[in-house]
Amino acid sequence: MATTYFIETYGCEMNKSDSIDIALSFQTRGFEEVSCEDDADVIVLNTCSVRGHAVERVFGRLGYYRSLRTRRRGEPLIVLAGCMAQEQSDRIMELFPEIKVVAGTYHYMHIPDAVREYGRTRNPVVLTDREQYDFSPFKGSRAEGHSAWVNIIMGCSNYCSYCIVPHLRGPEKSKPAGAVIDEVRQLAARGVVEITLLGQNVNAYGRESGDIGFADLLERINDIEGIQWIRFLTSHPRDFDHDIVRRIAGLEKVCNHVHLPLQSGSDRILSLMNRQYTLDHYRSVLDSIRTHFSDAAITTDLIVGFPTESDEDFAMTLDVVREVRYDDAFTYRYSSRPFTGASELATTYDTAAAGRRLEELIELQRSISHQRNEDEIGKRATVLIERESKKNASEMLCKTGKNKMVIVPTDLGPGRFIDVEIESIAGNTLRAREVRAV
Ligand code: SF4
Repeated sequence: MATTYFIETYGCEMNKSDSIDIALSFQTRGFEEVSCEDDADVIVLNTCSVRGHAVERVFGRLGYYRSLRTRRRGEPLIVLAGCMAQEQSDRIMELFPEIKVVAGTYHYMHIPDAVREYGRTRNPVVLTDREQYDFSPFKGSRAEGHSAWVNIIMGCSNYCSYCIVPHLRGPEKSKPAGAVIDEVRQLAARGVVEITLLGQNVNAYGRESGDIGFADLLERINDIEGIQWIRFLTSHPRDFDHDIVRRIAGLEKVCNHVHLPLQSGSDRILSLMNRQYTLDHYRSVLDSIRTHFSDAAITTDLIVGFPTESDEDFAMTLDVVREVRYDDAFTYRYSSRPFTGASELATTYDTAAAGRRLEELIELQRSISHQRNEDEIGKRATVLIERESKKNASEMLCKTGKNKMVIVPTDLGPGRFIDVEIESIAGNTLRAREVRAV
């Protein structure tokens, strides 16, 4: 009988968070985690469908796992989970009949039972219905050392025209505020000091359920003893306004880092993307953030090569990047996805131009990110110690409230906060000296 498992995770923070629930589901049913796929009875691929590249990587891994069968004793039971499982289970099972369990986006917690069922019946188990979504029953046990992710809203109702997520994860569903608060309290009781609230669109929290809104939720979490830093990911610019920014920025535990996806600097492309905001609105949100947060770091997501994007549209994106001077940006080349509105527009897609634009954008952002890091030199900051530096055991890798990584020589261990003064930059990492322990 299968008793050990190994999980491989692709894609965004939501998927990483879902993998924690998969692992806890296995553990509560008596399975044991192993650190190498060779030793696993069950291998779970928790997959991503957001870009074609992520899908190809999973196909590559499935091919690798097929080759594993010839060099190991027992054949592992392969579980396909997450977005690819939801999107194309029939096709993938035809190509890879060694997949015995398929668990779509509403079934992460059902995987161990499905594995047991396959063990009993030897019939593949496919769970892709979306009748009922249950939030994770695991609360304090979701802690990962001194930090934890807390899912507050599942799914997305925005239907950005390039995005497959609403088609795979379904419409927004907010976790009841009482359950979120209970989870954060339990995490704090386990020594968690930093939480990141997660959702495809956290600003929409409570909208469909009639529960309290996102700013109210943050205010309640801000009062929970033990939690010292609160982060959130991802925000939709349409759902931010001046009042919400003011309320959130006024909470002393909320970190001064806002991830605000722009996607494109062209209003024409934003409209085709169905992003539901204009550049003027985006700028007004940014103004509010810079007014109310003290010295906030701003990061973003940008897509180049969206269908019909012209040189002029792309130049507008570069202009906004120069104007905002993002601390960092996740940059992507447009990837046509099934079910999406933009895939209908893709006839004029020029991959070579998109590749050149991506390189130009990365180059620009790289130099701005470096300048933004240089701006930190000489400043004092409170940092959270993450772990020992890989290069030097007497130094610790730490993180600022602005989510910048800093190397600090210190005797203190992970989970402690210290005050530092930033002194220099090595590559993309800041270096600092300790000023005093908090
Ligand atoms: S907000 Fe848009 S990009 Fe983000 S998950 Fe929803 S549909 Fe996708």
